[in-house]
Amino acid sequence: MRWLHGHVLVYDDHGGNQARDAAEALVRSGATVEIVTPERTLSPDVGSLTASGCVNSLAENGVAVTVLRRLHGVTRTPDGLEAELGVDGFAFREHHTFDGVVAEVGTEPVQELYDELLDASINLGAVDLAELLDHRPQSVVRNEDGSFRLFRIGDAVTSRNVHAAMLDAARLCRTI
Ligand SMILES: Cc1cc2nc3c(=O)[nH]c(=O)nc-3n(C[C@H](O)[C@H](O)[C@H](O)COP(=O)(O)OP(=O)(O)OC[C@H]3O[C@@H](n4cnc5c(N)ncnc54)[C@H](O)[C@@H]3O)c2cc1C
Repeated sequence: MRWLHGHVLVYDDHGGNQARDAAEALVRSGATVEIVTPERTLSPDVGSLTASGCVNSLAENGVAVTVLRRLHGVTRTPDGLEAELGVDGFAFREHHTFDGVVAEVGTEPVQELYDELLDASINLGAVDLAELLDHRPQSVVRNEDGSFRLFRIGDAVTSRNVHAAMLDAARLCRTI
């Protein structure tokens, strides 16, 4: 990221876990950095002992942190890149100008395989939540001609983390 200089916005919609590395790399290349996240805390998944080390590293690198702001858009203006930031659930908007913007917004599921398999499945991809939470085998039948059960887990549902993917898999598979 040596091409990003000046004042750079590093946005992370998951609370800053991925943003920290980017922020530190940008500072090393001479930029001043502000991390912005819609979460209420920075790195909510990181335990308190480890988190204090991360916060110290950001402080030593002069990285500013703004929580509770979602990035709604970036517009190129004669002065730079104007970021539109807002508070979730409200119409409030504020605009700040940066020289560069780095945004970490997760991944999009690739669902072609799931879509192809859907019509041939017994459950048409449906999950019975009561059975899932009771640790019972899935019994939904929406297609009598189906020949297998089809489930989406992990990032195939939406961009999350390793723990979510393992929990999805464990809940469904330990009853098989
Ligand atoms: C840069 C980055 C950093 C991350 N850091 C963290 C972190 O520090 N901690 C954390 O908890 N999470 C982190 N995550 C998120 C984490 O990697 C994912 O949430 C997790 O890997 C999801 O697991 P999954 O099994 O659902 O999907 P994946 O791990 O993506 O596994 C899906 C697998 O299916 C294979 N596949 C896809 N299509 C087909 C096909 N048609 N046929 C056969 N195989 C196929 C893929 O090759 C892949 O191996 C990070 C993600 C990214 C992108």
